[in-house]
Amino acid sequence: MDDDRGDRRAELAGSHARVTARIEAACAAAGRPAADVRLVAVTKTYPAADVLHLAALGVTDVGENRDQDAAPKAAEVRAAGADLRWHFVGQLQRNKVKSVVRYADVVQSVDSVRLARALADAAGRLRERPLDVLVQVSIDGDPARGGALTGPGADPEVALDRIAAAVAEAPALRLGGVMAVAPVGWQPEAAFERLAEVAAGLRAAYPAATAVSAGMSADLEAAVRYGATHVRIGSALLGKRPGLR
Ligand SMILES: *Cc1c(COP(=O)(O)O)cnc(C)c1O
Repeated sequence: MDDDRGDRRAELAGSHARVTARIEAACAAAGRPAADVRLVAVTKTYPAADVLHLAALGVTDVGENRDQDAAPKAAEVRAAGADLRWHFVGQLQRNKVKSVVRYADVVQSVDSVRLARALADAAGRLRERPLDVLVQVSIDGDPARGGALTGPGADPEVALDRIAAAVAEAPALRLGGVMAVAPVGWQPEAAFERLAEVAAGLRAAYPAATAVSAGMSADLEAAVRYGATHVRIGSALLGKRPGLR
């Protein structure tokens, strides 16, 4: 191994240890076992080589938000012999669905009935195993920002209960739970408390839908405090991304 790669491996080992320690401390503070919270390393904009370093450090789950980058990266990682769970966490256009269902194990960002049906159709034709699906929930109810809406009067196309039903009735999909991003300008605690209420409501109707994907580099502690089962960590692990992604 040349020096650059050794340096990057050491850098990632350090950040991975720090993130793992944060998750463990947050679990301890919340009185939850550390095994309750799974780390999803969001590797968007970073190369397959970094994914392989993380896999060697014990990371089992990775997240990506653009099919154009994720599809070749997943293929490269698989060809190198690493068997990871791939989570798609970005906005998903329906013309990318056929590609995503071939490598993703989980799609965390389903926020319309139309998208759920397109995934069900593609997964049924192109996959052997069901695809795990989380419904992305809007915390602030702003329809412009995407995410499923709750409460009376929500457009049925993006209503959480309608999306959940569309996923639950599709044999090729498995309803795993909910995902959210804390809206800008919100206290993370308030956002994740709200998400916990939504998750509990969904679980009452679908007891197997236990996943709560919440928390990123800046707010994982608040997410764990309010019941996150998955935290999606990019920059705290891999470094600050250039640009807005
Ligand atoms: C980029 C991204 C993350 C990771 O964000 P960081 O702040 O870098 O940890 C998590 N979730 C989604 C949906 C993302 O797009």
